[in-house]
Amino acid sequence: MIIKHRQVPDELKLLRILSARMDLAETDKQNYLNLEKGFEGEIKFDALMENLQQERLILNDLLLEKNTTKFQLDSLHIAQETVYHFEVKNFEGDYYMEKDRFYTYSGKEILNPLHQLRRSETLIRQLLQQLGYSSFQVESYLIFVNPTFTLYQAPKDPSIIFPTQLERFLLKMNRVPSSSLNYRHTRLGEELLAVHRVDDPYKRLPAYSYEGLRRGMYCTNCNSFKISVGKQLIVCNACGTNETVDQAILRTIKEYKLLFPNLKLTTSRMYDWCNVISQKTTRRVLCKYFEKAGHNRWIFYNERN
Ligand SMILES: [Zn+2]
Repeated sequence: MIIKHRQVPDELKLLRILSARMDLAETDKQNYLNLEKGFEGEIKFDALMENLQQERLILNDLLLEKNTTKFQLDSLHIAQETVYHFEVKNFEGDYYMEKDRFYTYSGKEILNPLHQLRRSETLIRQLLQQLGYSSFQVESYLIFVNPTFTLYQAPKDPSIIFPTQLERFLLKMNRVPSSSLNYRHTRLGEELLAVHRVDDPYKRLPAYSYEGLRRGMYCTNCNSFKISVGKQLIVCNACGTNETVDQAILRTIKEYKLLFPNLKLTTSRMYDWCNVISQKTTRRVLCKYFEKAGHNRWIFYNERN
C-alpha cells in the first residue's frame, strides 16, 4: 500500500514553467533536464514495484533530517522485519568506476551514488533507532532503471541492481515470505510521514522576475506560444493540441501562483499575464475557481480550500 505518493516535485514544476518562459542558462537547463530524467526514472521504478506481491507500506520521495543533515529518499518500503530503501538512477549510456570513484565515459567525475546510498542507509538506521524501531533491518539498493546504462569496472556489490537484473531482483523480492503488517508498521509509517520535511524549491532556482518572463499562454503539449483562442477551445498552431479555454487559463494562473507565491491574484495582473484573453473572461475564470476577497479596486483572489 502506498502511504506517500510520488508527485512532480515543485522544483521540477517551476523549472518546466521557467524553461518555457525564459532562456535558461546552460547549467540551469542541464539541471532541469537532469531533474526531468530523474523523475522519469522514479516513475519507471514505481511501475516496476507494482509487481511486488509482499504487503508493504510504501513511502515515496521522503525528505528526512538527522543531525541537521537533510537526506532525500527516492522510495522506502516498510515490510515485515525490514525497511527497504531504494535510490533510483536513470543514467543513460556508458560510465565507469575507478578507485571507488564514478565517472561518465568521457571522464567527468560525478558524485558516487554508492556513497550516497551508504550515507542515507546510516542515517535511516540512526533515525529508526531514535524513533524506537531499531529491530527493523535496513536493506539499501541502488537501482539503475535505464536499459541503455552500462557501468564498466563495476564492483561486485549486491546492493547495485543493473537494468538487466531488475527482473530477477523482483523475483527475489517476491520470494520473501508474505508479511502481515500490524499497528507497529503503520505507526512507523506515520512517524516517518510526520518527520518528512517540506523542501523549499525556490532557493535553487535561477533568478527571475515578472518583467523578465514571457507572458501569455502556451500549448500544454509542445510549449508553443502560437495558439489560437476560440470560444471554447484554445488550439495550438504548432502541434494541433487543444485544451478548453478555462483549463488553459486556470493552468496559466496556477503557474503564476507557483512562480510568485507572495503576490496577489488580481484580474488586471492575470489579464496581463495570460495576455491573449479578455478582461471579462479573466474575471469569469478567477470567480469560478478562486475565492474573491477585498473590495472595489482592491479585489484579489485566493485559492479555494
Ligand atoms: Zn503544441
